[in-house]
Amino acid sequence: MNAHRRRSDCRLCGSRRLEAVLELPATPIADAYLPKEALGRPEPAYPLGLAFCLDCSHVQLRDVVDPSALFENYAYVSSSSAAFVEHFKRYADAVVDRYRPTAGGLAVDVGSNDGTFLKFLKARGLRVLGVDPAREIARQATAAGVETVPAFFTPDVAKGLRGDKGPAAIVSANNAFAHADDLGAIADGVRELLGPDGVFVFEVSYLLDVLDRMMIDTVYHEHLSYHSLKPLKRFLESHGLELVDIERIPEKGGSLRGTAQRKGGPRKASPAVAELLKLEDERKLDRFETLKAFADRLEAAKKRVAELVDGEKAAGRMVAGYGAAQGATTQLFYFGLGSKLACLFDDNPKRQGLYSPGHHLEVLPSEKLYEKKPSLVVLLAWTYAPQILKRHERFRKEGGKFVIPLPKTELA
Ligand SMILES: [Zn+2]
Repeated sequence: MNAHRRRSDCRLCGSRRLEAVLELPATPIADAYLPKEALGRPEPAYPLGLAFCLDCSHVQLRDVVDPSALFENYAYVSSSSAAFVEHFKRYADAVVDRYRPTAGGLAVDVGSNDGTFLKFLKARGLRVLGVDPAREIARQATAAGVETVPAFFTPDVAKGLRGDKGPAAIVSANNAFAHADDLGAIADGVRELLGPDGVFVFEVSYLLDVLDRMMIDTVYHEHLSYHSLKPLKRFLESHGLELVDIERIPEKGGSLRGTAQRKGGPRKASPAVAELLKLEDERKLDRFETLKAFADRLEAAKKRVAELVDGEKAAGRMVAGYGAAQGATTQLFYFGLGSKLACLFDDNPKRQGLYSPGHHLEVLPSEKLYEKKPSLVVLLAWTYAPQILKRHERFRKEGGKFVIPLPKTELA
């Protein structure tokens, strides 16, 4: 089965002038932690790297893993994270309060997962409909009262929905807008489905935050687009959509919430759009040199982490990792740590007892730190460094050390 292909053109503008920013060794699907009985099976790994479009400045992955391999059996459900559920509630309320759709108006969520976002729109009096290719999750969402079509969202699907249900007052796409390869099909479908005064809302992680906070942990195969405003605005316009608002929000280490309407719609663009474009211009986010500088900072961190880990190993001491989320896989491959660590620790009971993709490092509960007694622990979950350091003060008092690899490499 050919489960992977490499794009030769930009996902947003079609240009062939793509320049590599960062290349990782072939990496398995970041979330594919394995149970013990699966350790003998072949494990596919795919190229992973960031590329920059010299024409529209969109930052993206060129390597696309077949979405059916990635998403049709997708197990992650939004409702499993209490913080995420709360976020979706605030998000849904903000959209309804601001754009005041007519009661009974239609809201469609693209990549609706278990229907968490739509549930909150339904509570505000809208008719709701989800579209998601993960069949089992779509079935469960429908059974739980959020009708969900098990499909990838395309212009044809949108046309069919509009015929059945009428035009939409709200179309939303959150992860889908960063995770889909064919964003043009989504944008065309959105335009097809939106009513004349309808709004398209989306949340995607923001490139400027990825760079400022050195979030290499957000680089994995599902996450195909690292959006910034300038290329995204131009892309939406080329598909007949007009951006009317943009907001920076703290989710996922830094995201954008955007609102668009059909070209010629009733809303005027908020000043926030021009302001953020200006900031991106000042930060030279549309320049390859800016991305190259990010890659150079990462390389420096990689070198420093390797020195610390190799020094410890040369003295015959044990080194382990802390964190077994998706982003840990990327870091194990990027930093070249997989073969150097004895095991991983993680506080998520769903990960404990599993083995990391590729290197098969066992994931243990973090209390086991005190049994295993590694002398050095690389904090792959460094975005939670303050909480983890506090939780394991005893480990540090007893002589253990943590390496915080990013955003600035330090020992703690
Ligand atoms: Zn481009």
